[in-house]
Amino acid sequence: EAKREGQRFKRFHPTMDKQLLERLVLEHDLHKALSRDEFLVVYQPQIDVHTGQIISVEALIRWNHPVRGWISPLHFIPLAEENGLIVPIGEWMLRTACRQLKEWHNQGFTSLGVSVNLSMRQFFQQDLVDMIDRILKESKLSSPYLELEITESMTMNVNHTIDMLHKLKKLGVKIAVDDFGTGYSSLLYLKEFPIDRLKIDRSFIRDVTTNKHDAAIISMIVSIANHLEMEVIAEGVEHVDQLDFLWEQQCRQVQGYLFSPPILPEQLPLHFHEIQKR
Ligand code: C2E
Ligand code: CA
Ligand code: CA
Ligand code: CA
Repeated sequence: EAKREGQRFKRFHPTMDKQLLERLVLEHDLHKALSRDEFLVVYQPQIDVHTGQIISVEALIRWNHPVRGWISPLHFIPLAEENGLIVPIGEWMLRTACRQLKEWHNQGFTSLGVSVNLSMRQFFQQDLVDMIDRILKESKLSSPYLELEITESMTMNVNHTIDMLHKLKKLGVKIAVDDFGTGYSSLLYLKEFPIDRLKIDRSFIRDVTTNKHDAAIISMIVSIANHLEMEVIAEGVEHVDQLDFLWEQQCRQVQGYLFSPPILPEQLPLHFHEIQKR
């Protein structure tokens, strides 16, 4: 009983109150962020190291809060997931990314693709497939240029995953597994899911030159991808040493600060030339 009292007291501790209040304020502001046009999309290049070309970009959301300035998606996406706002925000992301990609195609970057992160809620959204179909038609974008990034934790409901992924594949969009290696992963289901690309989580890349376990895991993921005929990309590549290791492992695709941070859309044509010069 005393313990329970203690816990109850803890919940209403002044600092907790402040945190809760902050959360409520942020959530309140999040409701208005879309209509007030406070979101922005930045794009991070994904490079094929053999050709030195930007093959695609990952669309990443940014929130420019009127008072607090830039807020990381790591802070507001979980909140939006909880209160369901991720559904309209996610739709806005998909539409914005597809329109932007179409614009790049029109500018002559015709082979470029775009990856958009899906959240758990969206993956279980009733009209997700129809919505994506609509957005593709609306933006006149050919479906294979759009890739959806899901995480392993979304695939735990195997029947739903198989059903959803097959519907998405029927549309023609590509599927990537993000942060691969950090979540629930069953090799048994991996071969059942129609997955186009594995994204090796950056936690494995970070110490790869000094940690032989990380090196072994990366080597294994690349091998799985090759055997299952999936593409594989390493994220969070910051140093040349890491790139050298990935090259040796024949991991052709990389994304990370070594090549480029996420950039504003108008910067991309410039980066195209710069990265190709390397
Ligand atoms: P993520 O999908 O794993 O995205 C990669 C994150 O790593 C991005 O952080 C990116 O800026 C960062 N990054 C890229 N290269 C490097 C590098 O070389 N070193 C390091 N240290 N970091 C690097 P960001 O943009 O802050 O996004 C964080 C997370 O928020 C994303 O992780 C994703 O889970 C989520 N997120 C971002 N945008 C969206 C969105 O539109 N929808 C959903 N559902 N989630 C999103
Ligand atoms: Ca991602
Ligand atoms: Ca990732
Ligand atoms: Ca991540």
